[in-house]
Amino acid sequence: MPVESSIRRLIEKKGHVKVDELMKEALSDNPFSYYRKYASIGDQGDFLTSPEISQLFGETICLWAIEEWRKLGKPSKISLIELGPGKGYLMRDFLKTAKLEPGFFEALQIFLVEINSDFVKEQQTNLKDFHKDIAWLEHIFNIKEGPAIFLANEFFDALPIKQYIKVKELWYEAILLIDPSDGKIKYDKIGMHKELAFQLKQDHPNAFDGAILEESIESLEIIRFICSHIKKFSGAGLVIDYGYYIDPLKRMRSEYIPSLQALKSHKYTPTLESLGEADISAHVDFYALKKACTESEIVPEKIISQAEFLIKYGILLRKESLSNKISKEEAEIISKQVERLISPNQMGNLFKVLRISSIAD
Ligand code: SAH
Repeated sequence: MPVESSIRRLIEKKGHVKVDELMKEALSDNPFSYYRKYASIGDQGDFLTSPEISQLFGETICLWAIEEWRKLGKPSKISLIELGPGKGYLMRDFLKTAKLEPGFFEALQIFLVEINSDFVKEQQTNLKDFHKDIAWLEHIFNIKEGPAIFLANEFFDALPIKQYIKVKELWYEAILLIDPSDGKIKYDKIGMHKELAFQLKQDHPNAFDGAILEESIESLEIIRFICSHIKKFSGAGLVIDYGYYIDPLKRMRSEYIPSLQALKSHKYTPTLESLGEADISAHVDFYALKKACTESEIVPEKIISQAEFLIKYGILLRKESLSNKISKEEAEIISKQVERLISPNQMGNLFKVLRISSIAD
């Protein structure tokens, strides 16, 4: 059943749906949902990601991973797990670089967590020349035991969020229901579990009347799983996404706003229109992810921007050495691509990086 009809049916059955339930249905749980139906990245799709912009993105990530593998004592087998690999460009560029360190390349056992069958086909095509065994999974929870490196670029933003709203000193959860006057799906709110409402009040003393807060329970479950895996078997993890890092106690008025957004053909569109046809996402709460890591006894490194991360792991040096081998025109193209990834006005600042490792520096 198409997404909007199935959401309406859910609302009729339960009286309302919560924002995370709506996102799940629109993005992944329904056979007609967005990520099941559309292979949507690229100029022709709905949005463009860093691995599409430049090969240097995946190459630089590989340099980070090699350093982590060395820190782990160069295990002879290590799982490499990518969440939501899209077209497989990041993995392709990563593996090309990994070949320069044969021990690392040989050690890699690859798992790709993907729910879109068209993307799986593209990944198979784009990665076949490496002749590596690759296992495709729909769930991270099914990976095998042992040391592991986790990668996630623009994956967490696609996971469902809840929205909470503060009205006259009380916190509520945002829901969607059908407006009887015009039959449209619209926002409303319901009371929350007392303990959770109390916790929000404690954690967000500066929230004003009308403040909106977002939380992704599924993201926290996944990051906790990653942390417990690397705590048990050793390893490292890298999460890159657009998002924010704000200590709730220092959060300002202007920061209590919703980030939920929908994109279709590179344009923003209202989130409740085009359900199942548009890419709905939310900015990633890096403070919450980091806190979940610490609570899982994995102390993450400082959250840094994408620009800081890429520069730290050598993207500018790599650009220089590549530019010496190609024509001036090609070098200019590469330079523009890198600029897009690191410029603070483009992706450099908005995108943040969480790095975790079982071996603290
Ligand atoms: N990492 C890629 C793609 C980002 S788009 C890049 O940077 O280009 C998000 C990716 O996550 C897509 O491949 C999408 O199909 C996948 N995805 C979305 N929701 C998912 C889920 N719940 N489980 C597994 N994969 C998911």
